[in-house]
Amino acid sequence: MAFSLGKRDWASDRDDDRLPALVRWGLQRFEWVVGILGRRRQGRTVAVGVASTLLLGLGFVMPAQGRAEIAEAETFQILYTNDIESVYEPLPAIWRSDMTHIGGLAKLASLISRYRVQEPKSLLLDAGDLFTGSLSKATQGRLVFDLYSAIGYDAVNIGNHEFEYGWQTLAFVSQRARFPLLNANIFYENTDIPFGRAYVILKVGSIRVAVLGLMGVDAFINTMMPSHRQGLRIVAPEAVAAHWVPRLRQEADVVLLLTHQGRTAPMQTNKEADPDVQRGFEEEYALAGAVDGIDLIVAGHTDHGLQTPIRHPDTQTLIVETFGQGMHLGVLNLRYQAGQPLTVLSSDLVPVNADELPSDAAVLALIQTARSEHPELAAVAGTLVGHAPRKYYGESVVGNLVADALRAHAKTDIGMITPGALRADLTAGSVTVEQIRNVFPFLDRVSTIRLTGAVLKDVVRKGLQREYGLPQYSGLTLTAELAEAGEDAFISIKINNLPVIDAKEYTLATGSFTATGGEGYHLLTPHIIGTSEALVADVLVAYFKSMGRVEAPDLGRQTLR
Ligand SMILES: [Zn+2]
Repeated sequence: MAFSLGKRDWASDRDDDRLPALVRWGLQRFEWVVGILGRRRQGRTVAVGVASTLLLGLGFVMPAQGRAEIAEAETFQILYTNDIESVYEPLPAIWRSDMTHIGGLAKLASLISRYRVQEPKSLLLDAGDLFTGSLSKATQGRLVFDLYSAIGYDAVNIGNHEFEYGWQTLAFVSQRARFPLLNANIFYENTDIPFGRAYVILKVGSIRVAVLGLMGVDAFINTMMPSHRQGLRIVAPEAVAAHWVPRLRQEADVVLLLTHQGRTAPMQTNKEADPDVQRGFEEEYALAGAVDGIDLIVAGHTDHGLQTPIRHPDTQTLIVETFGQGMHLGVLNLRYQAGQPLTVLSSDLVPVNADELPSDAAVLALIQTARSEHPELAAVAGTLVGHAPRKYYGESVVGNLVADALRAHAKTDIGMITPGALRADLTAGSVTVEQIRNVFPFLDRVSTIRLTGAVLKDVVRKGLQREYGLPQYSGLTLTAELAEAGEDAFISIKINNLPVIDAKEYTLATGSFTATGGEGYHLLTPHIIGTSEALVADVLVAYFKSMGRVEAPDLGRQTLR
């Protein structure tokens, strides 16, 4: 078959001559449809998306075929990442003593190459969340698929962030991917037509590895804009896994799931050093126990780094996950023995030591080309004096800074920002537009709210429950007893150093997602008195440009005990 999809030729992996004639015909038509429509009808993304998934849906009717040959025993390597979220530059590793910078996509790529040289029988997989960030947004995801193609991923799962520019954009732009992009449990509404490709069977050595992609219901429903998934529906991952796993066991030696589920990851860079922000992996564990026959789950979305794989005692399914943002490469050396659970020979979350690793030239060139095509992002907006890191469950410097910028823009008594919206730290020195937009890459505008002191106390009280992390404030200081989530939580709450009066009115500025009830802040919504033309991201850039030199705000606005 002539249509090659990059480094790895699906046709040879798929071993087409063992497929039934109907399926073979369907796959050939699929490749023709993608090849022709993808080139000629670039505006008709829906047609391409539907046509491709219809034909991919033939996987549903593929009968179980007997294996012509069975691998007996073999060792192989799984390299894995999750939730890189377009963090392309190394991050200051202020929590580590063994390196100054960690991560960076070009550094990660060269680390991957090292492990592939050591063990050619390797598969490279990602559990989803490729998009977000300035360059991803500026290219509507095109750069992202080019980068993962250049690195040579063997299969990638769809994460919630991939819907950030709407599903139509994803269906169109993902055709650039030279790797299978997987999801088995999202369908077009009122149909059984799958949105993505459910699975792929990859060959490593003589072993055939089936890889199935799944997204969690919460990730689909609660962590993306409803308009971005309008026209699609999701089916519970357990039900879809229970459908596919027995079928895949007939076709492959090893069955592997890429999952993107559980509670959304905390936005904090040093999460590997802070056990308080570990999200857990309950949904993966439940899935591993509920569906027999899964050898390995490579998880994403929660960023719950597992230094050693977890094995479910009932089904022997292994679970692995990294801390995300490309800071570590998961390396798992396994031994396959027919009829046995996989044996772990070694496992590691290898930190991407940016001080020592060279940058992969191809990856670096792609990023630099994208930057050169968007010179507006490279412009320096100002200078930051001091570092501004994030902290999810506590007061953070960058949170205070963003709250200050919102308050200054809207000229309100209070600025407020929730930590889930803060997607990057800022480091001391010159700060570019790209770096500032990375902090807040969303499309929120600034909403102004007028509320009484009594309502304000309810808002602050809700924040103290920290369900979605601790909100950050400007103009407001508080001391609170965290054990008391109710009426008695406050020891002191002040605005401009004066105690809050229940009957008095105050003004507050925050992002429009929060103001309209995002993360459960419905109490704000009836009190909105205006929303800016400007995006929050633009307000932040303007703040730096107008100040020139911005001091990283001190901590001490919130004392929690
Ligand atoms: Zn996610």
